[in-house]
Amino acid sequence: MDLGLSDSIAVVTGGTSGIGLATARLLLGEGARVAICGRDPVKLASAREQLNTVKPGAVLAEPCDVLDSTAMAGFAAKVADWGGGHVDLLVNNAGQGRVSTFANTTDAQWREELELKFFSQILPIRAFQPLLTAARSPAIVAVNSLLSLQPEPHMVATSAARAGVQNLLKSLATELAPRIRVNSILLGLVDSNQWQRRFDARADKNQTREQWFTALAHDKEIPLQRLGVPDEPARAIIFLGSPAASYITGASLEISGGVSRFI
Ligand code: NDP
Repeated sequence: MDLGLSDSIAVVTGGTSGIGLATARLLLGEGARVAICGRDPVKLASAREQLNTVKPGAVLAEPCDVLDSTAMAGFAAKVADWGGGHVDLLVNNAGQGRVSTFANTTDAQWREELELKFFSQILPIRAFQPLLTAARSPAIVAVNSLLSLQPEPHMVATSAARAGVQNLLKSLATELAPRIRVNSILLGLVDSNQWQRRFDARADKNQTREQWFTALAHDKEIPLQRLGVPDEPARAIIFLGSPAASYITGASLEISGGVSRFI
């Protein structure tokens, strides 16, 4: 199937590792040109180098915190110059989860989490909306979590914030239609930097990486018995963001190895 992404311009926030980097790499493979952003300049340089080996000269990598509206406007201006004044696909991927219960989440942490989850959608969409509107069949894909529908008490703030984000995306799918399609993916557990950090902090340092991840998949009762790898959500992002998904908007696709417990 031709996804219709050849020569398109895509933007991936948080494109320097994990799912964002995999998405950028697969988009290049589909013939797109890709702009990525992240905060850490070392990770940005490394990602630029890796992506340039896939399709030399087709990558723009810029430092930008998605929670900084001025930086985001500057990033959009650079993308406009580089991409010829339009953007076909915006992937809102930047972010991370917070492990905390209601008892140990402070008011400041609640505000931080709500800001991260909402404004990592709001600010990139505001900054890129004019460029998306200038494209032929533009789309936004948000990377969200299954926690939005199936909350976990040990990630109470993340779960609540992510539920709100799904609600926001549904409104946007209506408000931005028919020009811009808006869809999301709902992740279960995907092996990336976030989980590597939790593995590094494991209590039992004798556990190997394989043992730790196998036990995690078992504890979480994942029917496919493993965590996902970044290419798996990346393929779903690329489909939903491509002209091949031209009649899909306001939808969310679960990428979780079957871990949800609802119909
Ligand atoms: P990674 O930590 O590997 O990647 C996160 C990316 O986001 C990095 O490029 C990071 O770069 C960037 N980033 C984080 N905060 C900001 C910011 N404020 N501004 C710009 N860039 C930022 O994690 P994943 O690939 O796993 O995560 C991708 C998305 O998927 C995240 O939103 C995460 O919350 C979500 N998710 C992941 C799950 C999983 O199991 N992996 C489960 C549910 C949701 P830098 O730090 O340099 O800015």
